Amino acid sequence: MKSYLFAPGPTPVPERALLKMALPIMHHREKVFENIFTEVRQGLKYLFETKQEVLILTSSGTGAMESAVCNLFSPGDRVLVVRAGKFGQRWGELAEAFGLVPVFADFPWGEAAVPNRIAEILQGDASIKGVLIQASETSTGVMHPIREIAEITSKREDVALVVDGITAVGVFELPMDAWGIDAVVTGSQKALMLPPGLAFVAFSDKAWKMAEKSRLPKYYFDLKKHLTSAQKSQTPYTPAISLIVGLNEILTMIKNEGLDEVFARHHRLAKATRAAVSAMGLSLLAKTSPSDALTAAVVPEEIDGVALKKAFLERYGITVAGGQDQLKGKIIRIAHLGYFDPVDMFQVIAGLEMALYKMGYDFTLGSGMKALEQELA
Ligand SMILES: *Cc1c(COP(=O)(O)O)cnc(C)c1O
Repeated sequence: MKSYLFAPGPTPVPERALLKMALPIMHHREKVFENIFTEVRQGLKYLFETKQEVLILTSSGTGAMESAVCNLFSPGDRVLVVRAGKFGQRWGELAEAFGLVPVFADFPWGEAAVPNRIAEILQGDASIKGVLIQASETSTGVMHPIREIAEITSKREDVALVVDGITAVGVFELPMDAWGIDAVVTGSQKALMLPPGLAFVAFSDKAWKMAEKSRLPKYYFDLKKHLTSAQKSQTPYTPAISLIVGLNEILTMIKNEGLDEVFARHHRLAKATRAAVSAMGLSLLAKTSPSDALTAAVVPEEIDGVALKKAFLERYGITVAGGQDQLKGKIIRIAHLGYFDPVDMFQVIAGLEMALYKMGYDFTLGSGMKALEQELA
């Protein structure tokens, strides 16, 4: 049986990038690598839509989240944490681990943050130094209104908008400079179509100014060191050389396709997947603001979501994600971010139909495929 990855990270890696990463290791202080690094820097600026340097860390995405926290703030700082899922919770845990005081803006899992609530909290608390949020909350499949929130934070010189863009960068519009986002973070194993192991972070001018005053402890994640090196196409420590060689290939692919087309492709696949699961009678967890990165479908009451996920894997070799915490067994999450095309989606929707059919769910077999084909044809 073949294996098919449809989880929102790690995602499939294009053959072109796999082949590049299989090349013999080169030395990171030699010219060949420096040239690759210079190209990668340009490609990352294009991807983040920023003039700022995008720093590359050897860690999973959470490392870049941590680097944003420990470089921007000082002990005791108050930060507004938007909590509408598992990854919003992570911002809160990170803030607490570093001795910050999180002020939570909680929203039901499945719903998007309401900018007015954030504006109200900021207005009522002049000591808040940052707003920490996801652009795409992967645990619920919701997209948060970053543009509107950036309009609010842009008016405050002392508040940094810190966006976890781990399933947003390279999926949908998130232009860092144009919208005035102060920190954008992502990782390699989602829309960047690479193995896990690289994390990325970029700071605005406002954020770099705040970084000057930050008194939280940091060493490997001291971003000023990374910036000074990156500007010379160097890294302060040994980089994940092969992953960066693969990244260069990926960034070339993204550049060739064009960011607008990358976003449009994700939107087409997302729209078709949402139509397919809806046609099968499943409801979407994200009703009003779905992310184009993944589809979170509510599993019918009579079906056990954990058994459904297991059936996917054991019968068809398909990995999808289930729900976390309060959503365990209640939803399945189907990814369509990164290296996916229309025909890929046939596999996962057909798998879902067959698995539900075998489990006795009452629906018209083929209804999901029909909707998918109608959308994609
Ligand atoms: C995957 C993900 C993370 C965590 O990334 P790791 O690479 O597992 O550390 C954080 N935030 C979001 C929104 C994600 O999707």
